[in-house]
Amino acid sequence: MTIDAVFVRSAAHAGDLPRDGLAEIALVGRSNVGKSSVINALVRRPLARTSAAPGKTRLANIYRVIRGEGSPFYLVDLPGYGYARGGDAGEFEALTRAYFDRVGQAGRVGQAGKNTEVSYPPDLADPPALAALLLVDARHPGLASDRAAWAWLLRNVAACAVAATKIDKLARGERIRALRELESVHETSVLPVSAVTGEGLDELWKLIDRLQPSNRPPRPLSNSSPPPPRGTEARAHRRRRSSSSRRSRT
Ligand code: GDP
Repeated sequence: MTIDAVFVRSAAHAGDLPRDGLAEIALVGRSNVGKSSVINALVRRPLARTSAAPGKTRLANIYRVIRGEGSPFYLVDLPGYGYARGGDAGEFEALTRAYFDRVGQAGRVGQAGKNTEVSYPPDLADPPALAALLLVDARHPGLASDRAAWAWLLRNVAACAVAATKIDKLARGERIRALRELESVHETSVLPVSAVTGEGLDELWKLIDRLQPSNRPPRPLSNSSPPPPRGTEARAHRRRRSSSSRRSRT
């Protein structure tokens, strides 16, 4: 399958984010978790700058991708979190919050019903169709910042999923333990990937396809069968419903 991918720009403010209404998949994760490496591995070329020194990027890097005969969409590499004080999603960059505020607006259309008044920025032609992929380091399951980020995404983003990076660094027994713990902590299936060996990349493309609005199954999205435990679905659904009704009142 051909993959056409170009770097569009680095966005420092919400105003620099895409405005053409194409689908967007945002990559979220701690600094150094391997977001740039995953992007490069997915598009099979060194488009994104990788770095051994964590915590430098304060910009959202935007890539436009066309895969095979598919529709174009954006991969958006959001600023990494995890190197500020504390350990909750409060440390998300302002840019990340602004980014997902647009997601919230898109999510509202489906969640609040067609009679609910929805407002968009006046210069935004179409509401963007957005989704989030949380990347967590397979070697460090259950970090407070990752848990908080996932909880925040479940409340604020219409479609999201989790993948575990650097799986090549774990021996067989360790990876089984780590994945089990990750799935238990995040209460959803977690896809193991490696930018170094290429493991999991085909499945990650499939997951990205499923995150795109035109391909989404009824929420909540799970990244593999079997589906997540029922308790997860119910809780996630309740959280989304309550955040949707909160949003629709604004
Ligand atoms: P970002 O800050 O999240 O964009 O992280 P980078 O993609 O820059 O990666 C941070 C460091 O982890 C770099 O030294 C990468 O070479 C390394 N890295 C990223 N992905 C993998 C992986 O799948 N396996 C291994 N072994 N190292 C990785």
